[in-house]
Amino acid sequence: MALIVQKFGGTSVGTVERIAQVAEKVKKFREKGDDIVVVVSAMSGETNRLIELARQISDDQPIARELDVMVSTGEQVTIALLAMALIKRGVPAVSYTGSQVRILTDSAHTKARILSIDDTNIRADLKAGRVVVVAGFQGVDEQGNITTLGRGGSDTTGVALAAALKADECQIYTDVDGVYTTDPRVVPKAQRLEKITFEEMLEMASLGSKVLQIRSVEFAGKYNVPLRVLHSFQEGPGTLITLDEEESMEQPIISGIAFNRDEAKLTIRGVPDLPGVAFKILGPISSANIEVDMIVQNVAHDNTTDFTFTVHRNDYQSAQQVLEATARELGAREVVGDVNIAKVSIVGVGMRSHAGVASRMFEALAKENINIQMISTSEIKVSVVIEEKYLELAVRALHTAFELDAPARQGD
Ligand code: ADP
Ligand code: ASP
Ligand code: MG
Repeated sequence: MALIVQKFGGTSVGTVERIAQVAEKVKKFREKGDDIVVVVSAMSGETNRLIELARQISDDQPIARELDVMVSTGEQVTIALLAMALIKRGVPAVSYTGSQVRILTDSAHTKARILSIDDTNIRADLKAGRVVVVAGFQGVDEQGNITTLGRGGSDTTGVALAAALKADECQIYTDVDGVYTTDPRVVPKAQRLEKITFEEMLEMASLGSKVLQIRSVEFAGKYNVPLRVLHSFQEGPGTLITLDEEESMEQPIISGIAFNRDEAKLTIRGVPDLPGVAFKILGPISSANIEVDMIVQNVAHDNTTDFTFTVHRNDYQSAQQVLEATARELGAREVVGDVNIAKVSIVGVGMRSHAGVASRMFEALAKENINIQMISTSEIKVSVVIEEKYLELAVRALHTAFELDAPARQGD
């Protein structure tokens, strides 16, 4: 008998009919004799709706503690509905919010981290033959405040519970039948991957593939939780996230392409090129709690430098204000910004053993006349910043250039 944690995302519980379908599915697993813990998200669109309400009443700056009290209600609704649907079908079930389980987190409201999980109640319920339904995305801090884990956080609840319970598998059920070479909604020729390593999945998630929240992949890697992404309502093997890197001739150099429209770019021009200048520019940005992603510094011939970096789009205005102040202080020429950018990244462990991957990427973009504004590389990824309007073209061109396109089906 196996212990399985199953997480169902927003679209999979988006209507009462879907919740009933999920209940049927859980019932079938239960009949096979497995112990099941189910984690659910809020009904699709609900979290956005709640955030919007908070924004309207708070002049765009909701108090984080109260925002968490409110957005956590989305998941509270779906756990109760699913438990009702299960009980109606003769499956004993019980629902718990994050704080009822005691999913203890730190106090960083809206982006809290899980510190520990008390599994006493869950184990007792499983022993008594009940399916346990837990609210995703939420926890409670030492002081008893409700916290949430960041957008997409139900994935992390699922994996963290699987780790705490030493589950045999954590299954992430969603509206696609696995992890694809890139977002199948952007590239119809994307292919489902049988397997992907934790390391690659972590890069894909942190570079913008929202199919799994980054922290869920970190957790799964750290505690070696067998993790699988599957379609909620279609049969299939899905995608397994694994530890092992297979050395096979078939192994593609690139496993996937990720992209992200959430960044904005800022440039400070004509800064005197002296030691410590990067620190003088980025120190105040970091003191303002703004995270910087990519950085490029160019030296001009007149002993000044142009310094460019990217930040999350939500931080763009604050970063611009901080940078204007720095520019005045350093006697820089000007500050310019651009929000119409996008980042495209190719990811693959195969890059370690193959040279020339980056140039192949640049060649494919050049052929489409797409200008590269910034570049950054690491052992298993290459990222470029381009103009946002070319994003989809770039992703498709790279997908073809790295031979990731699905073979054409007959009749296509
Ligand atoms: P859920 O509500 O179930 O958590 P999400 O919307 O968070 O679902 O994640 C699933 C979506 O992730 C898919 O509908 C797909 O558009 C998107 N996605 C982005 N990149 C990928 C990828 N590489 N493989 C599969 N899906 C991806
Ligand atoms: N409901 C939350 C969100 O929309 C958490 C999740 O779905 O994973 O971000
Ligand atoms: Mg999600």
